[in-house]
Amino acid sequence: MLGQMMHRPLRIADILTFASEIHGKEGIVSSTVEGGLHRTSYRELEQRSGQLARALARLGVTNGDRVATLAWNGYRHFELYYAVSGMGAVVHTINPRLSAEQMTYIVEHAGDKVLALDLTFVPLIEKLAPHFPADMIYVIMTDSAHMPETSLPGALCYEELLTAESPGFDWPEFDENTAAGLCYTSGTTGHPKGTLYSHRSTVLHAYSCALSLYSAMRPGNRILPVVPMFHVNAWGMPYAAPMAGATMVMPGPRLDGAALWDLMDGEEVFSAWGVPTVWLGLLDEIAKRGAKPRALGEVVIGGSAAPPAMIEAFEKMDASVCHAWGMTEMSPIGTTGLLHASEGDLALPERVAVKSKQGRRVFGVDLKIVDENGARQPHDGKASGELYVRGNVITSGYFRNDAATADAMDNEGWFGTGDVASIDEKGFLQITDRAKDLIKSGGEWISSIDVENMAIAHPGIANAAVIAVPHPKWDERPVLIAVAAGDTPPSNEDVNAHLAQHLAKWQLPDDIIWVDSLPLTATGKVSKLTLRKTYGAHALSEQSAE
Ligand code: AMP
Repeated sequence: MLGQMMHRPLRIADILTFASEIHGKEGIVSSTVEGGLHRTSYRELEQRSGQLARALARLGVTNGDRVATLAWNGYRHFELYYAVSGMGAVVHTINPRLSAEQMTYIVEHAGDKVLALDLTFVPLIEKLAPHFPADMIYVIMTDSAHMPETSLPGALCYEELLTAESPGFDWPEFDENTAAGLCYTSGTTGHPKGTLYSHRSTVLHAYSCALSLYSAMRPGNRILPVVPMFHVNAWGMPYAAPMAGATMVMPGPRLDGAALWDLMDGEEVFSAWGVPTVWLGLLDEIAKRGAKPRALGEVVIGGSAAPPAMIEAFEKMDASVCHAWGMTEMSPIGTTGLLHASEGDLALPERVAVKSKQGRRVFGVDLKIVDENGARQPHDGKASGELYVRGNVITSGYFRNDAATADAMDNEGWFGTGDVASIDEKGFLQITDRAKDLIKSGGEWISSIDVENMAIAHPGIANAAVIAVPHPKWDERPVLIAVAAGDTPPSNEDVNAHLAQHLAKWQLPDDIIWVDSLPLTATGKVSKLTLRKTYGAHALSEQSAE
């Protein structure tokens, strides 16, 4: 017997029309590319998104067309999210930190028809345009006063396009499985792979984001995505925040510690979301100024492992850390680390230990860990294996890439994350490593994340990464690549004595290479690939690790 309830398609545009009606005064504060702060409400954003949809239709954009964006976090980027998907087209967010070759590849692979870009990226795209389709429509996301001289063929001005249209839009109705968004991940090998989100998956993810990060997602809260809108939809915040009625404070291009501190303090931001490297910059700034931004009560850390020393630093200043894990292919939130009320009284060391794990799965995401034969492992906090996921917000395959799809899916239809993890009895996930970053020394595995977490807790170390280098006797040995916190790095003996408090002797790095900074990937994570290319052949003596 079937239930008798109505079936209404889940549509992204309904989030914005709801926010406009119910939370019309909340909205977005943006630090703009042109300079200064811009303030707008969900009511105005809905009207302008409608104008934009009309303008795009006039330019010939129709169902299923891909409209690319190359933009920082700001209100115009948000309008593109809603206008493009709302009209039945697909918003393809491009990461501006990708290489020229990768960017050219994905524009071609996605079949983009329009490219909307912030002023910052005009010089970059002028260079790449000869490699893009000749009929590409370029829209520069600014007003007439700031329109640059440009060689981009037929470049249009965003604000002029809107002015020519009347506000609002009668958002069309279509199947909720219609494609809405496209985001490519820059894998470590081969071409970037595309994840194609649907209206249904995006709306379900917005519910799940609002439920699993509930302390941020409240009417009137002020929340800041440092995580970019060009990387997995800023972890879903631009959909969940209007649904919940929270106001977003968007940092635009200014992501350094000082700029973030000023913006957060001035706009009384309660919750901010980003990758660990960004928080290193903010913590530095907090140390310099001797105070945190005044309303900061929560920091969501994801994208790579949050080091315990970072968690402790925030917790000590009453900024509660929520450690989250996910992937582009998962929309992206898989687990979040908000503690249940009954766990709230943990003393600092225990709290830091629990929060160093990646949190518990969110409703709608199933997790399994399997050994090398595909056999499920118990969730006992000890057994570890490759992590697989399943759910309505998880990709069923890569966009136009059957080979990558076949590689990623198992025969039960679960998606293989490439992460190695354990899950404890309470449901906390602990990521040990990316499968390819684990170090195999004399048949034993060493987790690079464990060694990095310990290293970063040394007062003389600002940041650190561990890679495997070949060893004549042990196959692989860990080498620590570190940035000193002061002018003189601590001695290797001193660092190893610190690490030895928590690690076995055979897990200690064989060598330490001091560098001025660590290379970052397009999504702001430490690039192990670049480190491996540069230091992978670092010579170790046969005696090391004896
Ligand atoms: P991306 O799709 O670029 O966001 O990358 C997803 C990958 O980032 C995951 O498969 C993990 O390897 C890594 N990752 C994301 N969040 C965390 C976290 N909290 N701890 C450890 N690794 C993480």
